[in-house]
Amino acid sequence: MVGWNCDAPAAMCAAHHVVDWAKGGPTDLDNLALVCDHHHAMVNDSEYGWTTVMMGSDSPHRGRVGWIAPAVIDPTRTPRVNEKHHAGERVATSIAARCHQWGPQAA
Ligand SMILES: [Zn+2]
Repeated sequence: MVGWNCDAPAAMCAAHHVVDWAKGGPTDLDNLALVCDHHHAMVNDSEYGWTTVMMGSDSPHRGRVGWIAPAVIDPTRTPRVNEKHHAGERVATSIAARCHQWGPQAA
């Protein structure tokens, strides 16, 4: 898993603590994600920082990292998972977005 909408290969990533190590986040697989340096630097507690969460059992993306944009970008602060390495999801999301964009078919 790499940053939201990032296609950096795993070999160009570092381990990211989803719950920050400085805040007591363990260095366990359940709390780690591969993130490129660029996206890693975007995760911080500032007004413009991104937040990461581990998607829970109530999500279809359980165990994957959710990326939450700062409120200035996404006021809903909805976690989004990276689909770049999951081709089937990417196609489904693209089709759903286009269907929404086109709206209901006129008779
Ligand atoms: Zn990245």
